[in-house]
Amino acid sequence: MSGFNVSNDPLDFLRGCSVGFDLKSGLSEKVDTGKRYLSQMKGIFADEAAYDALLAKGDTLVYEFHGMPVPEKEGDLAFGCSILYPGKVGDEYFITKGHFHTILDTAEVYYCLGGSGYMLLENEAGDYSAHELAPGQAVYVPKGYAHRSVNTSATEKLVTFFVFRADAGHDYGTIEQKGYRKLILESDGKPVIADNPKWRL
Ligand code: MN
Repeated sequence: MSGFNVSNDPLDFLRGCSVGFDLKSGLSEKVDTGKRYLSQMKGIFADEAAYDALLAKGDTLVYEFHGMPVPEKEGDLAFGCSILYPGKVGDEYFITKGHFHTILDTAEVYYCLGGSGYMLLENEAGDYSAHELAPGQAVYVPKGYAHRSVNTSATEKLVTFFVFRADAGHDYGTIEQKGYRKLILESDGKPVIADNPKWRL
């Protein structure tokens, strides 16, 4: 590598670095993932009886994601992969918890590497939309919108690569308390958008 002046630090966010993410699994040899198991998602799914019944069968891994140790400073960018496993709680597909950014006016991009599903967006005023995630498809999450991935495949992982402002922060509490207004459920074998009976102002 003579002349390339490449840092020995595999994660040098001050001088530059490159990080590999497997195109199929989304996993990286350089950075571990945080993991969300079903037991950590109580109250997130609409059908509580179905949630309890599924959890009684085992504490399955619902999703994992990279928490890249980028400095959380203005101007930095955090990035990594989100890997959402296939499954359903009742008629509701497996989802990520969903969050707003603590600095609400910060956007994010998700680029789908594998699988199929939706990015469900919703703002505090109630505007919502669901954007298809399929390999090669990028979704722009605008400022002010909560975002959650939905895996509509019965068999495949939904793998996305994300980039957002590193100092944005995550507000999970608002969604944990109020929920989303809309859900994506399976009906006659197809995804449909439905009102969330548990949603409250
Ligand atoms: Mn985000």
